Amino acid sequence: MADRLEADVCVVGAGYAGLTTALRLHQNGKSVVVLEARDRIGGRIWTQHLDDGSPVDRGGAWLAPYHEAIFGLTREFGVSTYKTWVKGSHLLVHGGRIRPYKGLIPKISPLAVLTIALAQARIDRLSKSVPLDEPWTAKRAREWDARSVAWFVEKSGIRTSAGRDLFEMAVRGLFTGDLDDTSFLHLLFLVRAHGSINALFSITNGAQENMVVGGAGIVADRMAAVLGDAVRLSAPVRSVTQGDDRVTIEADGVSVSAHHAVVTVPPALALGIRFDPPLPDDRQTLYTKAVAGPESKTLIVYDEPFWRPDGLSGQSAEPGSTAEVTLDATPASGILGVLASFTFGAVAESAAALAEAERRKSVLDALTARFGAKAASPLAFIETPWWTEEWTKGCSMAHFPPGVLTRYGHLLRQPFGRVHWAGTETSTKSHGAIDGAVLTGERAASEILNGN
Ligand SMILES: Cc1cc2nc3c(=O)[nH]c(=O)nc-3n(C[C@H](O)[C@H](O)[C@H](O)COP(=O)(O)OP(=O)(O)OC[C@H]3O[C@@H](n4cnc5c(N)ncnc54)[C@H](O)[C@@H]3O)c2cc1C
Repeated sequence: MADRLEADVCVVGAGYAGLTTALRLHQNGKSVVVLEARDRIGGRIWTQHLDDGSPVDRGGAWLAPYHEAIFGLTREFGVSTYKTWVKGSHLLVHGGRIRPYKGLIPKISPLAVLTIALAQARIDRLSKSVPLDEPWTAKRAREWDARSVAWFVEKSGIRTSAGRDLFEMAVRGLFTGDLDDTSFLHLLFLVRAHGSINALFSITNGAQENMVVGGAGIVADRMAAVLGDAVRLSAPVRSVTQGDDRVTIEADGVSVSAHHAVVTVPPALALGIRFDPPLPDDRQTLYTKAVAGPESKTLIVYDEPFWRPDGLSGQSAEPGSTAEVTLDATPASGILGVLASFTFGAVAESAAALAEAERRKSVLDALTARFGAKAASPLAFIETPWWTEEWTKGCSMAHFPPGVLTRYGHLLRQPFGRVHWAGTETSTKSHGAIDGAVLTGERAASEILNGN
């Protein structure tokens, strides 16, 4: 028999959006129940503790200095952050050559560097005319939404194969899906939401500048501790039924009757919930099209960050390889050394098609070529192919194919009767990031508190 609960608000999903929604409602005197499908909280944030207790992040990990909402939560819960290691040379591998460089500009032909800078300046300039709250109302929204990111990359005028491969990989890393299937308007909107394209790509002053002491999940753990028994794990929501004055949310083992529901799942997963009355066709089309792409994050753990004394930062890029991008993801203690290695989109799928041992060898061979023989013998090798995760299905956020934002974007935050929506895909500022998820939780809570 399912537990029958009553609450002012039922929140679906215990990622950063859901937990923030529930926390703010709870702090304002509302009773809440949070239903989470997984047997853990955090969603796309997944801090795992190694045998010695060191925290490593299998999902989202980095915070930009402009991520004010999540930094606000770190302060609220007494959590510290630390700077990502950037000292030493970064490595670009292309055409079998390893090219060390410092700062932002890799050692490729000056013409390639110049044309990449021009393409990025153009993106920054165009993004300034995209309204953050309603990108679909930009004067040129239709034109940009009819184009794909692949179209822009093709027309960007970037010179040399090293320049083109590097830029294509960097942009593919933002969306992880097929760039033919990602709207150019979405790229401009994303850039507007983060201030500049360099902010998205950078460590210093950018999206990869800070890590969280204790792992990115620690703030979520502390929010969940405040909510206590109100958070129900292993409770995938199956249906949401709206009546005249209440909404009933049925999950495995628990049924909640509430005044409002807040659904915070990634868009494609909303289609797995049966709504009565059903979601209108336009909203179903939005959720059918707004899918997230393949991305794999692999943590390679060593007994020390051996690359640092060798004058290497741990940051490397090799477009198309099984370790396309690496970053130093060493925990704050600095005792163990951790490299985070990423593959995106079609490259992630090809890597996943290899046998496990073959893929591991390919990644370690690539790291050994870049960082030396010590890279061959890690203590742990932890892979997370996020698109195969049942309750996420893709990374790191949904991308909008051409035509979707202008036709259906206005539905992203529009309540559906007693059902409100949060989650990073519904965010404006810091769209796609942890900070964006937190902001949507604050917004959804205030919608309900203000009776909107
Ligand atoms: C590999 C990776 C790297 C990333 N790197 C960064 C980074 O460095 N910095 C950054 O800012 N962002 C990063 N991100 C993005 C960031 O993780 C997300 O923006 C953020 O965590 C999204 O939070 P959310 O609450 O909106 O969604 P989610 O975290 O997806 O939460 C939704 C929750 O709903 C649950 N759920 C789904 N269906 C149901 C159902 N039917 N019933 C009940 N529960 C359900 C899920 O289990 C999940 O817990 C990364 C993401 C990934 C995957």
